[in-house]
Amino acid sequence: MKKNSEIQQKTMRNEGIKVTSPLLPDLNEFTELLKDIWNRKWITNNGQYHQQLEQALAEYLKVPFVSLFTNGTLPLLTALQALNITGEIITTPYSFVATTHSIWWNGCQPVFVDVEEETCGIDPDKIEAAITPRTTAIMPVHCYGHPVKMNRIQEIADRHGLKVIYDAAHAFGVEIDGESVLNAGNMSTLSFHATKVYNTLEGGALIVHDAETKRQIDYLKNFGFAGETEVVAPGINSKVDEVRAAYGLLNLKQVNTAIARRKKVAERYREALREVPGIRFFDDMPNVRHNYSYFPIFVDAKKYGMTRDQLYFRMQESGIYGRRYFYPLISTFSPYRNLKSANPQNLQVATRLADEVICLPMHHELSDSDVLKVIEVISEM
Ligand SMILES: *Cc1c(COP(=O)(O)O)cnc(C)c1O
Repeated sequence: MKKNSEIQQKTMRNEGIKVTSPLLPDLNEFTELLKDIWNRKWITNNGQYHQQLEQALAEYLKVPFVSLFTNGTLPLLTALQALNITGEIITTPYSFVATTHSIWWNGCQPVFVDVEEETCGIDPDKIEAAITPRTTAIMPVHCYGHPVKMNRIQEIADRHGLKVIYDAAHAFGVEIDGESVLNAGNMSTLSFHATKVYNTLEGGALIVHDAETKRQIDYLKNFGFAGETEVVAPGINSKVDEVRAAYGLLNLKQVNTAIARRKKVAERYREALREVPGIRFFDDMPNVRHNYSYFPIFVDAKKYGMTRDQLYFRMQESGIYGRRYFYPLISTFSPYRNLKSANPQNLQVATRLADEVICLPMHHELSDSDVLKVIEVISEM
């Protein structure tokens, strides 16, 4: 306890250690691009920087086609529209609410399936029991950027004629054996929100596999316009402006450096926390290029001697601001809790993980001494 109050005094002198910090481009470089935009006076509607960013992202991510969006929620909505998804969609409760909201906004019914401890993603062994004649799609999440079991999911989808839409908001740049996870399924979505590994302030993208689908998506994000006088679908507006596209081009140049720093932080956390009883975390998966977007730990209260919430608030008292992602489960929120599949008995692993998790501070600006403070508070009880 004495040790802890010392740490507290130390951390109170600065602003505290935040869970994340946005990757920001160099302001002078950004200003140069702004001047260019001001000169050209083309500020939105598929401008030059917009086209460049879609190209550059497709190359960086090793995917055939990227369609930019104004956030990471609209590509989810649009993917379901484009694929004419109706009826029931099988999904995970252990995610950010936008995953399930996108199903609801399409007039479909979310059906929650439990997750597996190994990835925190949907458990393939439990999908088939949730399929009914109304099921049309599966929407998994690569939670924390850990790839879910895509081959297993695809097998099930093929057997039952279902579409697969991945909410890959956390999986920017994640690869298995050199292949992007974003190439799996029918479509994958990304979020470029300020809190993500790569941001365009707000932003997102839909990853598609062929030129015809890309064309269709580009219509849908522009009100359904296929030409000056032709509207082919009831589209939405999710066009990215030139300012954000320019910002995104600059951030793309430094994202690898940011990921490299995150990797160092993850290595340091693992080395120190491996010795702490009751604290579980993920190791790197073989052949996977991780993006170190989050560093979740799971607190086993019996073995650790303190509950997750006790540790969470203890960290806060010491100026360390973790986040309980993903707690509470989506299935416990009022719009969804009355669904049959929202019964906690059906979601035992997800419920336990949600009660055990804390995402530790993880970003490119954490100093070695910040990391040490986090480790000290968790290991000195
Ligand atoms: C961030 C996030 C989204 C939504 O992205 P926005 O850009 O904030 O709209 C969707 N799904 C998951 C899993 C996310 O983490």
